[in-house]
Amino acid sequence: MSNVNIDSLLRENIRQLKPYSSARDEFEGDGSIFLDANESPVPMVDLPKGINRYPDPLQKTVKAKLAKLKGVAPNGIFLGNGSDEAVDLLFRCFCNPGLDNVVVFPPTYGMYEVCAAINQVEVVTSQLDENFNINVDDFWKKVNNQTKLVFICNPNNPSGNTQQRSTIEEIAKSFNGLVVVDEAYIDFCAEESLVPRLNSYPNLVVLQTFSKAWGLAGARLGIAFADSKIIAAMNKVKFPYNVGLPAIALAEKALSKVEELQQRVAETKANKEWLVEQLSSIPGVERIYPSKANFLLVKTASATKIYQNLISNGIVVRDRSSQPGCGSCLRVTVGNAEENSALVAVWSNIKNSEL
Ligand SMILES: *Cc1c(COP(=O)(O)O)cnc(C)c1O
Repeated sequence: MSNVNIDSLLRENIRQLKPYSSARDEFEGDGSIFLDANESPVPMVDLPKGINRYPDPLQKTVKAKLAKLKGVAPNGIFLGNGSDEAVDLLFRCFCNPGLDNVVVFPPTYGMYEVCAAINQVEVVTSQLDENFNINVDDFWKKVNNQTKLVFICNPNNPSGNTQQRSTIEEIAKSFNGLVVVDEAYIDFCAEESLVPRLNSYPNLVVLQTFSKAWGLAGARLGIAFADSKIIAAMNKVKFPYNVGLPAIALAEKALSKVEELQQRVAETKANKEWLVEQLSSIPGVERIYPSKANFLLVKTASATKIYQNLISNGIVVRDRSSQPGCGSCLRVTVGNAEENSALVAVWSNIKNSEL
């Protein structure tokens, strides 16, 4: 059990912050005539019913459904405009600009560093080893008294692997700041989420999202699960109406289709296996890293030229070759059967003479 005190970890100004109190925050009871928020009394013709009204600042209906699905209390859930909003809020709540630092494990998701830079917070890196595992000794060397957050992407983007659970829990147990485990791809893998472990680690924050397996990237809805004190701080700092009504409605709809989610995850897995088989027989493809997510990291001769060639055929993948430990690597999202076939057809047609 970590004995991190969340109150003392918070920035002093955030601890003392009196949040903005919106019209819908102040109202309690059963109103039927709402003249408190300067909204339009009606939506435009053909636009969704209720869209003229501000949404619930705390998205209680979705949180109730999520709480049930994930086995947590609703006050242990934050919802935001993508999990990127949660990442930014953690910086704003816990990191003093120009003073504190965070640790990230490259190669990894780029938003941790961008949010750090925006918030003027130093990023200390502890590079993953050649198999993209955390080097625990190196990590502890990088931590100091000003280290407030550690970001562990699990499964990791762009490498697709997961860290040993014992490594993550060991860090959560002994680190005197918040351990943020980004589980954007957890629905694709057999490993269990760390959400059930939140009770043991009050300094653990688990990020998930509706953008990947749930198929709602366009809705912008991310999730943070954590101790209610951390969630309360995030709610205090967030914009009052940070999630729109359409996103809330779509998430509720999606949450009633858990079986379909599982079916889609199974399809993605089968498509991934097909893609691995096909890509590995293409000359020049040197290595396909084992992936527990919905993408593959592919080491190939002339990565940047292959990237360009695919683009000229209308196929867009991600060139990760400039990332630490990812020399000559492309990151390829698993598409549907048709998209994957098109990728394989174009890639296997690239002639050596074109590289
Ligand atoms: C895609 C992705 C996200 C999702 O971000 P949203 O803002 O929720 O769309 C978060 N973390 C990682 C590592 C990702 O790859």
